[in-house]
Amino acid sequence: MIFAANFKTNHTRSSTASYLQQLDSFMQFQPEESRCMVFPPLTALDSFGLKRVEVGVQNAYPMQKGSMTGEVGSEQLEEFGVGSIILGHSERRHKLGETQELIAQKYEYFKEREFTIVYCIGEPLEVRKSGDLKEYLGSQLENIDLAYERLIIAYEPVWAIGTGESADRETIAQTHDMLRQMVGSVPLLYGGSVKPDGIQEITGIENVEGVLVGSASLDVKSFEAIISNAQA
Ligand code: PEP
Repeated sequence: MIFAANFKTNHTRSSTASYLQQLDSFMQFQPEESRCMVFPPLTALDSFGLKRVEVGVQNAYPMQKGSMTGEVGSEQLEEFGVGSIILGHSERRHKLGETQELIAQKYEYFKEREFTIVYCIGEPLEVRKSGDLKEYLGSQLENIDLAYERLIIAYEPVWAIGTGESADRETIAQTHDMLRQMVGSVPLLYGGSVKPDGIQEITGIENVEGVLVGSASLDVKSFEAIISNAQA
């Protein structure tokens, strides 16, 4: 199982450091096959010396270094040994207007540098209600190399993100079955209001290989409860 925490615009450098030390100690007692990833804000990056927790970034620009005001390139990530990145998150697609073309450009760049890529896709409510779901999710995979061995796909329905209401079992099962046909053996995470309660129901679904967690990951005890409840 893969457990990924997306802090978004939360936590400081010092609160991230203590969170990671605590989580890393907790992870030493978890099964070897459990993979734990945390994506703090860029300002919190540091050399943490962790054993079981991988630290990644929520975004970066597809260049080593250069002139791109306000952005961070791979040289700045390498300084801290960062090797994982989230791409295609719905907040970047829908609130910041990031296009599929730019996302695919970032994908190619970080693929060439052998980053683990947690690639997010997900439909808004109007598509879920009356659109062509397969076509919509397919368009978010345009120009994305699905054969890349360090790719993880997170299915995150936009209508379930940050609402406190996760998608129901049936919806997750059907969508992940459909995605399995579309993406082959790429690990599939579910994201959208995942909480410690009910986690077993989600991780017990076929074709769900883990979860991407926003709000319920911000408190380390809550994220640890997600990890241990999923495996209970
Ligand atoms: C997310 O935005 O990646 C996410 C899953 O958020 P939340 O858990 O708060 O719905």
